[in-house]
Amino acid sequence: MAEFDVDLFVIGGGSGGVRAARIAAGHGARVMIAEEYRMGGTCVIRGCVPKKLFVIGSHVRHEIEDAVGFGWTIPSATFDWPTLVANKDKEIARLEAAYTANVEKSGARILKSRAVIEDAHTVRLVKDGQTVRAGYILIATGGAPNHGAAIPGIEHVISSNEAFHLERLPRRIVIQGGGYIALEFAGIFAGFGSDVTVIYRGDNILRGFDDDVRAHVRDEMEKNGITVLTGCTVDRVERHGDEFTTHLSNGSSVASDQVMFAIGRHPNVANLGLEKAGVAINPKNGGIAVDGFSKSSVDSIYAIGDVTHRFNLTPVAIREGHAFADTVFGKREVRVDHADIPTAVFSQPEVGTVGLTETQARAQFSRVDVYKATFRPIKATMSGRDTSVLMKLVVDGASDRVLGCHIVGDAAAEIVQAVAIAVKMKATKADFDATIALHPTAAEELVTMRTPTARHVREAAE
Ligand code: FAD
Ligand code: NDP
Repeated sequence: MAEFDVDLFVIGGGSGGVRAARIAAGHGARVMIAEEYRMGGTCVIRGCVPKKLFVIGSHVRHEIEDAVGFGWTIPSATFDWPTLVANKDKEIARLEAAYTANVEKSGARILKSRAVIEDAHTVRLVKDGQTVRAGYILIATGGAPNHGAAIPGIEHVISSNEAFHLERLPRRIVIQGGGYIALEFAGIFAGFGSDVTVIYRGDNILRGFDDDVRAHVRDEMEKNGITVLTGCTVDRVERHGDEFTTHLSNGSSVASDQVMFAIGRHPNVANLGLEKAGVAINPKNGGIAVDGFSKSSVDSIYAIGDVTHRFNLTPVAIREGHAFADTVFGKREVRVDHADIPTAVFSQPEVGTVGLTETQARAQFSRVDVYKATFRPIKATMSGRDTSVLMKLVVDGASDRVLGCHIVGDAAAEIVQAVAIAVKMKATKADFDATIALHPTAAEELVTMRTPTARHVREAAE
């Protein structure tokens, strides 16, 4: 590729872009990677990592409250938001430096600038106008928060980006949205002591998740003091000094000190030069259209991660970036298998899920067995906390294969990561039953549920 300055130019130094750059460099490719903000991308800088740190921090409230039943006397605890934010910022800066160092160690060159595409093989750096000719271009520009309709007062509304940098903890916060980010931040703010109101437009939060999970999470969140208002949207936000009044479509209003929207994210495709280069957009989701190898409509341009709007999760972006590098530079065609991706919502309690929901299974299989248990976790017997765990397995009645596993409760994400291996291996319910329980745990329920709680049989069409 002597006619090119580099073999690969990656646009975006997030989870997917960094993995692709490092692996491609490892395969001997000459690689440049442009990042307009901070190396590490959404996950490291203002997504998964700081979010999880906040979740852990806010969950300490539960630990303190629960300790009393175990004999502890804890003097009235105080919490300092600025300390949390400063310590989080320190850790994120450390990670950013580690990402930078790892990319440089791999031999790839980092360019701190926005990059745009000029044609199928040319990228322009916005900072200094320099153009780079590349054998391949990888678009890994991620996504950004949606703001929704231009309602009056939208300028007062923050997104998750700003939530990580608030100067003070809001005493009261209104959060619109019923998905991952809304529920995670609802738990975070409630844990730290804010009065939280979640506004969701549908009839129940977490659309797309198993219905039992949705009902259980809502119930538990409400038990934790979070107000969940469904069937309404935010029409208008008024500011009065440091306070806000959020007017809802049902005619009511909520007073708060902060208003946050978490109503989905859109792929970063704007002003990238895609049209000029002939890169097609997927009309179904607004992301870059790609094939099974993440190749766009232009042979030399690939796209991975959130910018393709397939499954907007870090491990997926990483896997897609790795597969791209192996396929194009590693002489090994790798297609990412998007089936049975485990996922967690770090609400409090958290949700862990893999595979089909009961509804999805019933639509695809004619015989579906459901095994479901709700129980009080052992800790609650002493702490006195009013909480319960949900464990659910969805099984194909014909083949006995476990199609889905859904958990709400402490460590749900950790449990489901391990269960996902079994589901991916197409384990049967009999395999689960043959596994001896590990006692005393919550997860042992997964191998001890013997009798279906529901059995759905679809009549064959006449
Ligand atoms: P990104 O990580 O977004 O990286 C894209 C990078 O490209 C950014 O750094 C951006 O600055 C840069 N960029 C954009 N345009 C240009 C340009 N033209 N030139 C140069 N640079 C550019 N996922 C999970 O799996 N688990 C979680 O717990 C989780 N929590 C999340 C919490 C929050 C609050 C959010 C917002 C997301 C969370 N996600 C989580 C999703 C996860 O962060 C994303 O799926 C993941 O970061 C996508 O990686 P990516 O490489 O596609 O894009
Ligand atoms: P989600 O898609 O999870 O949720 C968006 C929510 O906003 C839904 O409840 C949706 O309702 C609602 N909504 C959408 N548009 C509007 C509107 N115009 N007015 C009112 N409500 C609206 O998106 P998030 O922003 O929470 O997160 C973005 C993505 O980031 C996630 O989908 C996930 O892929 C990733 N992520 C992953 C995390 C993890 O792995 N733990 C954590 C955080 C983010 P409806 O359901 O009715 O459409």
